[in-house]
Amino acid sequence: MTVDTQELLDRIQPAQGGREIFDPATGELVGRAPEATAEELEDAVARAKAAQPGWAARSDQDRSKALHAAADAIETNAEQLAHLLSREQGKPLNGPNARFEVGACVSWLRATAEFSLEPETLVDDDSGKAVLHWRPLGVVGAIGPWNWPMMISIWQIAPSLRQGNTVVIKPSGYTPLSVLALVDVLNSALPADVLIAVPGRGDLGEKLTKHSDIAKIMFTGSTATGKHIIKNAADTVKRMTMELGGNDAGIVLDDADPKALAEDLFWGAFINTGQTCAALKRLYVPESLYEEVCESLVEVAKNMPMGVGLEEQNVLGPLQNKSQWEIVDRLVKAAKDSGARVLIGGDPEEGATGYFYPTTLVADIDPENPLVVEEQFGPALPIVKYTDLEQAIEWSNTLNVGLGSSVWSSNPERAEEVASRLVAGSTWINKHGAIDPRVPFGGARESGFGVEFGTHGLKEVSQPHVISR
Ligand code: NAD
Repeated sequence: MTVDTQELLDRIQPAQGGREIFDPATGELVGRAPEATAEELEDAVARAKAAQPGWAARSDQDRSKALHAAADAIETNAEQLAHLLSREQGKPLNGPNARFEVGACVSWLRATAEFSLEPETLVDDDSGKAVLHWRPLGVVGAIGPWNWPMMISIWQIAPSLRQGNTVVIKPSGYTPLSVLALVDVLNSALPADVLIAVPGRGDLGEKLTKHSDIAKIMFTGSTATGKHIIKNAADTVKRMTMELGGNDAGIVLDDADPKALAEDLFWGAFINTGQTCAALKRLYVPESLYEEVCESLVEVAKNMPMGVGLEEQNVLGPLQNKSQWEIVDRLVKAAKDSGARVLIGGDPEEGATGYFYPTTLVADIDPENPLVVEEQFGPALPIVKYTDLEQAIEWSNTLNVGLGSSVWSSNPERAEEVASRLVAGSTWINKHGAIDPRVPFGGARESGFGVEFGTHGLKEVSQPHVISR
């Protein structure tokens, strides 16, 4: 079925001009993105600031209802949003991709609408009474990446609004249309100026992070940009949630059943064609199971169709942009040059249309090869052999990042024991990247600080205020 996204685009495109955005699968024009000027950013922050006290003064129940109404609006427009997302980001409609992402926007809004952060009585005795309240911070500046542009925007918007803040959001320059369309749909259900999008690139993001009327930055993106933002936000002592890069390890234990785990291992690594921060990026497998794990993964990989996102049969798509394609290609070449064994893929078609990179599994690779130790945002998985579990744990913990990790085993207690020794914000057992709106998610080390989701996430967009008597 063809779904017309023109009506959505007409509402967000400038009357004339704008930056042309092309489909990474076909090279066809998707639409034209407006670019906000510095004056428009000033105006947006001023409007969000003016709207904030009124929004905060509403009852908690009112704000919860508004989030549910926003979720209803997404549901009404779900197919158009998924089609636009697929064309701009490249991800297929099916599999854990565009429709899944739009569905996640709805579930995160609804879950966040149901959490509540009650005042906490800390002391109540003869010495006196102290109660901790969670106040709004003011205007939250949200800056996001291009890999899950809609879902990550919701992760920033939903808790901020729930707690009585207003939001100015700057989407990635690669995927502005998806976020502008999402914000347009959300705003059909929200009061004026509580949520404003300012499309632009890094220079506009930089202005947002330095703005004295922005109380908090919620940033999801690379560690390099995150470090820059931390410095820029210092002068105004902004609160920050930093969701940065990762390079997630997975350890298969010698009691695992390779065939039973193969499909979950595959999707742990290849969700969104590998363009996922908390995806499995390096897999450590014991020698005793090594060939069986490799063969099982190849069997799954062979049967996962890759192609243009709007074609319903596909579950893997192109890389979103050329520079990301080049990083993946460089790292896979480095692995091949080192003598590693390519089990499948690794040989992109010369001169093909679209930024497609074949699903690639690389075995017999050195644990220090660049494909293993550098963050690679594409459909390639290095499989490293180990003979000593202690060594695999050490390799897993050796990098300066620690977003997610996973342990794969038939023995949950043993897996939990190994999990407890991994340095990461989340460690999953027999799954990878399985996020849940009730469960806090965030990074260790240079993968960032602060958490999103659940009541812990609400605290991050609130000012703790103690009243004592
Ligand atoms: P990026 O850092 O290049 O860009 C992210 C955003 O920052 C964009 O909107 C960009 O315009 C903006 N930006 C760039 N320079 C800026 C500056 N000086 N000041 C303010 N804003 C600026 O990241 P990307 O390539 O879009 O995203 C991929 C990265 O994001 C990967 O490293 C990935 O691991 C990470 N990521 C992390 C999470 C997480 O939850 N930890 C989730 C998704 C992606």
